Amino acid sequence: MLITMNGLVLREKQAGEKGRFLDILTQEQGVVEVFVRGAKKATSKSTCVTQLFSYATFCLEQRGDMYYFQSAKPIRIFYGLRENLDHLSLASYFSDWIRYAVPKGRQENMVLRLMLNTLHYLTEEKRDERMLKALFELRFASELGLMPDVLMCKRCMNYLPDSLVFSVTNGHFWCEDCYPGTEDDVAYSMRRSGLEMIRHIVLMDFARLFHFRAGEETLNVVSKFAEEFLCCHLSVRPRSLDFYHNIKRNHVE
Ligand SMILES: [Zn+2]
Repeated sequence: MLITMNGLVLREKQAGEKGRFLDILTQEQGVVEVFVRGAKKATSKSTCVTQLFSYATFCLEQRGDMYYFQSAKPIRIFYGLRENLDHLSLASYFSDWIRYAVPKGRQENMVLRLMLNTLHYLTEEKRDERMLKALFELRFASELGLMPDVLMCKRCMNYLPDSLVFSVTNGHFWCEDCYPGTEDDVAYSMRRSGLEMIRHIVLMDFARLFHFRAGEETLNVVSKFAEEFLCCHLSVRPRSLDFYHNIKRNHVE
């Protein structure tokens, strides 16, 4: 059976001389594994459109659980990502989360849209990288049903305290004075601008999601919070996250 799906290539894996396996995030079926026949040749017509972070309309042959690549028409190929190791490693880290957490066979319109938009802004370099990373992490968590509770202080119900403590482990916040503080709680102190940024990310309409600016202090604390939050609630820390941080550290030194 031949089927047509729009999808983004999240990973390529060589299968010797026989061909390559691709993990593709599709609108209709979540992440699917696709086999591309033939050795990888730089000149081959299918190589460009089946490379990492290519977004295309794929024509696939389905046999049981397996999909075989037939042809594809490119929609957008994120060339710019390959020229910047920071960006490439960050995009690979996002891919790892999707491959790990998105159930197979489920419609994943929002996750696909989130990933495509994040890659767009990452390539264009029009947004702070820390903001894009935090935005992806927290919105992705929300799309999976793991949204942090951003409503009000757990104790006094204050909606917008000036200073607060947001608990990664519990997924909700307290005003600074109300925070009970337990030993095994991973939590971040932040100002109200941090809470406003987290609220924006998890609640805002998609059309305005990327239209947001924040100061240095806010970006730093929310990006740490977002990363810990996703790792904690999905109970894993991808290796690509440490790889990304190593690259960033080497660039700073
Ligand atoms: Zn309170």
